[in-house]
Amino acid sequence: MAERTDTAVVIVAAGRGIRAGGAEPKQWHVIAGRSVLARTVDAFAGFPRRVVVLHPDDMARGLAELRGRVTLVAGGKTRCESVRNALESLEFSGMNRVLVHDGVRPFASPALIGRVTAALDRAPAAAPALAVTDALWTGAGGLVTGLADRAGLFRAQTPQGFHLRAILAAHRAHPGGAADDVEVARAAGLDVAIVEGEEENIKITWPGDFARAERMLGRDMDIRTGNGFDVHAFTAGDHVVLCGVRVAHERALLGHSDADVGMHALTDAIYGALAEGDIGRHFPPSEPKWKGAASAIFLAHAAGLARQKGYAVSNADLTLICERPKIGPHAIEMARELSRILGIGADRVSVKATTSERLGFTGREEGIAALASVTLVRP
Ligand code: MG
Repeated sequence: MAERTDTAVVIVAAGRGIRAGGAEPKQWHVIAGRSVLARTVDAFAGFPRRVVVLHPDDMARGLAELRGRVTLVAGGKTRCESVRNALESLEFSGMNRVLVHDGVRPFASPALIGRVTAALDRAPAAAPALAVTDALWTGAGGLVTGLADRAGLFRAQTPQGFHLRAILAAHRAHPGGAADDVEVARAAGLDVAIVEGEEENIKITWPGDFARAERMLGRDMDIRTGNGFDVHAFTAGDHVVLCGVRVAHERALLGHSDADVGMHALTDAIYGALAEGDIGRHFPPSEPKWKGAASAIFLAHAAGLARQKGYAVSNADLTLICERPKIGPHAIEMARELSRILGIGADRVSVKATTSERLGFTGREEGIAALASVTLVRP
């Protein structure tokens, strides 16, 4: 990151804004385990001085969440007053530059911050913005009343960067009521350079913004796939159990448990995705207590282990390979049973079948093989 050792950061989070929904101000809303404000503060890791402006009622919470990482300053009645309080606190700090940033823009990237700080080498003020590319309408009463010219229009973002002495003087001279610090700077006659903003640098404002933020953080999610393969031989009997469903057949499957070859392949796929070995490791065949066991116990254990490690089964796909019995008439019931044990929607589980064209052991009807794939997701 292009931060300099003489550049401070002021993060403004004193608002009570609850347009985004919820009982608490949006900067305290937790996204994927951490508050919006904590994420915003972390976007400026590496800067020598970070000041967070909070509502006086939030100071205890700020201390609890941000202690040791930032300096807390109490905000004023308006945004302008809040920023000025923070700037005043920096007057004798030895800092020469300052970036002022919204506490509810947690996605400011190092590149974006770098562009703002670099621009301060050639201008007393610099701020990111995006040119307006959508058509702009005027409207009234739910109807379009005209088209507005978008030429030369920009959507302003933060961090807005300034030479500290210049912006402090500008704030002291300003009568108040400015929408942002660029307005304050311009009122004092400072040139403000525009640098390229980023679409991802959203300001969390509306309820939908939280969901969008969660999705953006999803880029860091852990996605794992696993596969499983199993074979059981036929023996004398009058039915087989496949994916938890009893299917009448002139033979049975041989095995220590109920020999549910489909469920075993799927269970191994989950253990595989978790790098947790296979069924034999968790349920040793040497232990008599698993003799004749319903394989649902194995699958439920694997799914529980995934949950324990923070993963959800996103989907499972299973192929049974045999000439007979015919799987098709039972496939939906099998998928439903697997989804019930996994605790996920039936539309996330697929059970299908194929023959091996009378070739090999499955073709000779000596046994049934099963192949499974799963995807696990940890948000
Ligand atoms: Mg098996």
